[in-house]
Amino acid sequence: MSSRTPLIAGNWKMHKTGLQAAEAAGQLKGLVKQATGVEIMIAPTFTALYQVAQALKGSDIALGAQNLYWEKQGAFTGEISSEMLVDVGCSHVIIGHSERRLFFGETDASVNRKIQAALSANLIPVFCIGETEAQREASETFSVLDKQVRDGLKDFAFEDLSGLVVAYEPVWAIGTGKTASREQAQEAHQFIRSLLGTLFGKQFADAVRILYGGSVKPDNVQALMKMPDVDGALVGGASLDPETFSKLVFFKH
Ligand code: PEP
Repeated sequence: MSSRTPLIAGNWKMHKTGLQAAEAAGQLKGLVKQATGVEIMIAPTFTALYQVAQALKGSDIALGAQNLYWEKQGAFTGEISSEMLVDVGCSHVIIGHSERRLFFGETDASVNRKIQAALSANLIPVFCIGETEAQREASETFSVLDKQVRDGLKDFAFEDLSGLVVAYEPVWAIGTGKTASREQAQEAHQFIRSLLGTLFGKQFADAVRILYGGSVKPDNVQALMKMPDVDGALVGGASLDPETFSKLVFFKH
């Protein structure tokens, strides 16, 4: 049994106004009040962060953002810095989500700079990696993950990375209703953990949490969470409804 505390994280993507997000956060807060032995994080859109932070007061649910820019301040129209996220109450930030890589030109190099910016502001980066369907079919899954991990975490020492969370999200499973089988998830997670061991040492690899993401739902969460290297879930669609998301938080029940 691993000593890693599971993390169930919700990525609300570009859904919900401030009021809608605060209402959902308030409901979730009530629904998960009794949860123990699990960490919970929700990542609403930027414009809802302040209201959600207020709604979450008095709960242990952590607040995350979905992106950041690495510069501290300046002429970077439309961007948001790590300090601004901390200021609004964030403790976590999702970095390198496949939708950002696909639609907004995020690269391993930009992901690396963003992780650095997050860590230097004491934000916990949720570093997303994963292969596309074509890459899996071409048997490139491990080489893709290898490159994303090496380049995304380039020039870090293990002591810089404390708190880092990795999310393995096979792109073909995101929002598609197709979930990786628990064996596929375990195989990828084991590969990632072993690579992290090679790069940063066994102690780091044993402690780092690796979340699975890709159509996690109440009916598949338990099987995935039973796998030894799956330490939680990053959830899109099923995190939008507080009742459904709370079922994921209580995955053991
Ligand atoms: C995600 O966006 O990170 C995700 C895993 O989405 P979904 O749960 O909807 O597949």
